Amino acid sequence: MKHLECSISTQKEYVLGNELSVKISVKNVSEENIALLKWNTPFEGLLSHVFKINIGENQALPYDGILIKRGNPQKKDFIMLKPGEEITQTVDITNAYFINQVTNHEIKVDFMGLYFVSENNEYPDTSGSKKPYVVHLESEGQIIKITPNNSAPKMTTGMVARLHDNHSLIPGNKFEKSSPSLGQTLRPVFIGGSKAEQDTVTINHFKAKLATGESLNNLKVYASSENRKYIEWFGMQEFKRYLEVMKVYGKIKDSFETVTITYNLEEGRDMDCYGYTFKNSSKIWLCKKFWTAPDSGFDTKFGTIVHEMSHCRASTDDIVYGVQEARDLARIYPDKAIENADSYEYFTESL
Ligand SMILES: [Zn+2]
Repeated sequence: MKHLECSISTQKEYVLGNELSVKISVKNVSEENIALLKWNTPFEGLLSHVFKINIGENQALPYDGILIKRGNPQKKDFIMLKPGEEITQTVDITNAYFINQVTNHEIKVDFMGLYFVSENNEYPDTSGSKKPYVVHLESEGQIIKITPNNSAPKMTTGMVARLHDNHSLIPGNKFEKSSPSLGQTLRPVFIGGSKAEQDTVTINHFKAKLATGESLNNLKVYASSENRKYIEWFGMQEFKRYLEVMKVYGKIKDSFETVTITYNLEEGRDMDCYGYTFKNSSKIWLCKKFWTAPDSGFDTKFGTIVHEMSHCRASTDDIVYGVQEARDLARIYPDKAIENADSYEYFTESL
């Protein structure tokens, strides 16, 4: 049954260097009360890859904003929608999508919605046995004409974060290798944190490297047979997707060996999440939930590092969060699962 529908509206023309506001609407088209999780939707602001922006025939703009790993949702993370009710939100897409080409852009909103049907319009009990719905929400596309300007294109938050890194500003460009070494893991460096905290992160950094290697080995060994772990987290084995997953793990492993990762233990300290980073960066911010994360099972300390490395070194996104949600994604939307950071984390943690 269809519960939700979405649409967007925006200006027809855009002058480079300015803001570009897009208004997103989601409507409850069912007869039931819906509790929609705000995470990974435009309704928390532009904090994840929720737009599909195509230039010309088939070039899509990558998301270049903040990438956050969160814990379990609380009541405040949901929006209640009565039958027929509609919510809207306006975001400036230039904060996370780098627009610098003078050619038509087609913009649509495109994200995975996670929601509960709520009998009495009350907030869902997410710890209970009730399973959420995971649905692909996509609007119609809108064409925007881009007009040049004398001023520079607007920088994304990812570009600002990378300003002091010693490699390319533009997402997707080749990473520079900072020092060639064979199979060695480079020691990370730190901003802030006690000696004990830095040691904990270093141990888990090395552990994450080992686990990434094991993940790659698993994929190689079971490439031509039925790989149950792969199917669990990335969906049906299809050659192109399988290669893509190997490529992501390959990039993460390479980065452990050739890029000095900086952990910032200071700036996001009090944030109620595990950590965050930006694409093509070599910095990872670790936050409150990281320190209480377990050493084995799911959502571990080393798994968090694999998750963040998949973002900053292999350009994954956060499509859904959580173990059950990632399994559902693999089953229903394998094309999305291979882009989802938690799917990489859980595959690695489940080996
Ligand atoms: Zn993430």
